[in-house]
Amino acid sequence: MNNSMRWVLAVCAAGLVAALAIAPIDVVAGERKDDADVRAHCRGNLMRIGEAVRSAVREKAPTDAGGTAWLLGQLMEREIRIDDERLACGADPLAGTREPEKRLRGVCSYAIRNFATHPYDAAAKTPQVLVVCPHHNDGAFVLTDDLDIQFRTRIELSARSKGPIQIGPGASHADLQCVQLESAELEAMAKGIRTKSGRVQCASNLRQLGGILITEMIEYPGPPKFSGPALLVSYLHRKIIRAGQEAVLRCPDDSHLFTGADAELAKRYRELTPKSPARSLVSYAVRDFSRFPINPEGMESESVMACLNHAEGAVILFDDGSVKLVDHKALGLPAGAELHAGPDSAAKLLKPLAIDDPPE
Ligand SMILES: [Zn+2]
Ligand SMILES: [Zn+2]
Repeated sequence: MNNSMRWVLAVCAAGLVAALAIAPIDVVAGERKDDADVRAHCRGNLMRIGEAVRSAVREKAPTDAGGTAWLLGQLMEREIRIDDERLACGADPLAGTREPEKRLRGVCSYAIRNFATHPYDAAAKTPQVLVVCPHHNDGAFVLTDDLDIQFRTRIELSARSKGPIQIGPGASHADLQCVQLESAELEAMAKGIRTKSGRVQCASNLRQLGGILITEMIEYPGPPKFSGPALLVSYLHRKIIRAGQEAVLRCPDDSHLFTGADAELAKRYRELTPKSPARSLVSYAVRDFSRFPINPEGMESESVMACLNHAEGAVILFDDGSVKLVDHKALGLPAGAELHAGPDSAAKLLKPLAIDDPPE
């Protein structure tokens, strides 16, 4: 089996096609759709998310605020794969939003139970609400822990006849009061769970970059022309990653990145060439494909890209398209050791990867 075949298979197996859609959906207010197709898609999403949430709460009842950040953290920690399009409802005006402070909200449309104010009771006799989609014109989808999905009208929910359906403490109905959306994310951040959401965003970046690499390998079989971070810079150059989408190259937990005014930042990305040092603009270590070609016959997963900016370990994109947090122990390193990429690295998975030195 040749390399590109392996990638194609990985795409099919992992359902990574959705990850290819790197361009966030541009939503113009008033133009969102809410037809039968959107609702059928939303039901499918709810079932997938509901199953993941249910298995998480049944294993160990959570006590934190739930919400989007909790859900994404659970998916990553439990290695449950849900494609980005399955996390977004077509009726959600914020799906795919580019507003930086709402990035997580743009990734996921669904409100999740707030376990801090409404603890989950595994022994309860009545079904408990786990997930809600409040974005539909005339009501909300409510999923309970028996995986039943009900569409509740505004009248049933005592909600106002127009405008967004409120959720959280001030909502009009108990089924809406017990769930949280973006406010839980902010709460969670305030409680110091920020690292987790940084890691979630970082893993989402790596999944998207993996999607680009897969598409490229299908189109141009053989090893990529560039190795190391220069490969990612070449995507900028060829406008596969377009102006305004550079955040996909930036890990939120990376302290080596240049942060400055938007105009200056845009200029630096524009002027970057595959030959220039990129460490202050690109967070990720990328495989040196010339020295470490991927063995198409290999049975073990090989690392393709990685983020070395997290205290808990390396976030690694593998050649089957999966993204995992690999902790120090699994990397073969002492706890807390600094992570290095390159042939001298003590971690086998990081040896084939290359990254520039951090800027002064
Ligand atoms: Zn929906
Ligand atoms: Zn990262």
